[in-house]
Amino acid sequence: MDIKFIGTGGAFDIEYGNSSAIVNCNGKKILVDCGHTVFPRLIQLNLIPEIDYILITHLHDDHVGSLSTLIFYLYFFQPQKKVKLIAPLQFHKELINFLNFSQKNALKFIEIEDLPDFITLIDTFNRHYPDMQTFGYIFTENQNHIIYSGDLNDSGYLFQEIHKLNLNGQITVFHDITFNSLAKAAHAYYKDIEVFLSDYQIWGYHCNPKLKPDDCKIPLVIENPNLLF
Ligand SMILES: [Zn+2]
Repeated sequence: MDIKFIGTGGAFDIEYGNSSAIVNCNGKKILVDCGHTVFPRLIQLNLIPEIDYILITHLHDDHVGSLSTLIFYLYFFQPQKKVKLIAPLQFHKELINFLNFSQKNALKFIEIEDLPDFITLIDTFNRHYPDMQTFGYIFTENQNHIIYSGDLNDSGYLFQEIHKLNLNGQITVFHDITFNSLAKAAHAYYKDIEVFLSDYQIWGYHCNPKLKPDDCKIPLVIENPNLLF
């Protein structure tokens, strides 16, 4: 199992691309999020033929801005592959309604399925943006776990949920992060995440690395070439 990021920036950090990754788990390659910078990068990197599933954390534009384009592309240019959209059951209706704004009959272009059993959801509703449905996801293969936070303003919540699940084996957490205390209303403030470094391997993403303070102890995805395409 591994994860590689296509982009590591936040909504406004165009230089680093919108945060998005491909997780390779149990023989399947899962694209996590497809913001407005992502489709062009997928084409440039020739990654589209690899994708088996598309998984979305929430409906902000920096996470779904080019999803519609990717789905049309798959339908018209790669119809034999049958790439599927996977999502928690409670998210299906909202996701399809969203796609229907641009595709009218979204289910003609892509099938939607429940999560496979190797992906566990962490429901983070209202913990990124008021009244918004958001999710974090846990990918599991052979007792190794990759945890992807999605956007989350409650810095302890993900770790509290992981703890409840009593996971065995190796756990690697990819957490959204902000260095700006004013952005705490939407994202996890680095100081509040650092307290979990003693128990978990944590990598920060969804940020501008140029703004990283000298005292920040959390390594960033963008600092590790093994985590990047
Ligand atoms: Zn968001």
